[in-house]
Amino acid sequence: MTSYKELGLVNTREMFAKAVAGGYAIPAFNFNTLEQMQAIVQAAVETKSPVIMQVSKGARNYANGTILRYMAQGAVEYAKELGCENPQIVLHLDHGDSFELCKECIDNGFSSVMFDGSSLPYEENIRITKQVVEYAHAHDVTVEAELGVLAGVEDEVQAEESHYTKPEEVVDFSTRSGCDSLAISIGTSHGAYKFTPEQCTRDPKTGKLVPPPLAFDILHEIEKKLPGFPNVLHGSSSVPQDEVDTINAHGGKLPDAVGIPEEQLREASKSAVCKINIDSDIRLAMTAAIRKHFDEKPGDFDPRQYLKPARENMKKMYIHKIVEVLGSNDKL
Ligand SMILES: [Zn+2]
Repeated sequence: MTSYKELGLVNTREMFAKAVAGGYAIPAFNFNTLEQMQAIVQAAVETKSPVIMQVSKGARNYANGTILRYMAQGAVEYAKELGCENPQIVLHLDHGDSFELCKECIDNGFSSVMFDGSSLPYEENIRITKQVVEYAHAHDVTVEAELGVLAGVEDEVQAEESHYTKPEEVVDFSTRSGCDSLAISIGTSHGAYKFTPEQCTRDPKTGKLVPPPLAFDILHEIEKKLPGFPNVLHGSSSVPQDEVDTINAHGGKLPDAVGIPEEQLREASKSAVCKINIDSDIRLAMTAAIRKHFDEKPGDFDPRQYLKPARENMKKMYIHKIVEVLGSNDKL
């Protein structure tokens, strides 16, 4: 048993309370590699932002859960070394699919877990979420639950169709499950292809897809039912077209990749949304830098030669998200 407190990590409770009161959102960045971890910490320290480092099932399979836990501990120590006296870093399980997995993570240094029962019947979702909450709270770990279904593909998580969260269910669900935050479905989607061309319109000038807007009416309805309760948006990458263009200009093939416009996420951050998950944009930033590097310097074969610009480009993206989209800068 390793408590997250021994690792210097924090849970989300105070962080979310401040974010809700302050009208901003906490960035939740998925990580699998050393370079992502370094870039996340550098960006968080430079902007004085709290940060959630999250681990999906895919990340655990790729990098090993134990290694990722020590990387999160390393992130805290690295932040201190970079001059941050009191780093606010959460290690969060993204899309936990069973009580057993959530428990294993709580026992192994995670400070926050998500139980995603969104594909289960409503009562079953409440029952298992509550079971996770009881175990987690006994260890001062916070729990994110999910109500409503997001479309798209994210590691092993995928759904064909989305179902918006029903505002009439949120009070009952959060009260009976005891969850600390709630992932809601208001039109975001996992992956770099969030919408089909048929769901979008096309900008006549650029030929690029314009996605349908988020369901702000549902968000405001949820906010009215649960004032001050922390809501979470998954699948909230914006799929920046300059990175997509760089990838495509250097041998890549990502036609019609499309995301959630940043202005809409900024608006959501100002209201009841206090955690925004961003993964695909970082993948795009890393891939764009590496493709460009290989194209321009075909003789390079030392991984540091291409991972360094990849790390720089990710850091730029993290800082951009923190300052321009979430507004979590200068909050430490
Ligand atoms: Zn997700």
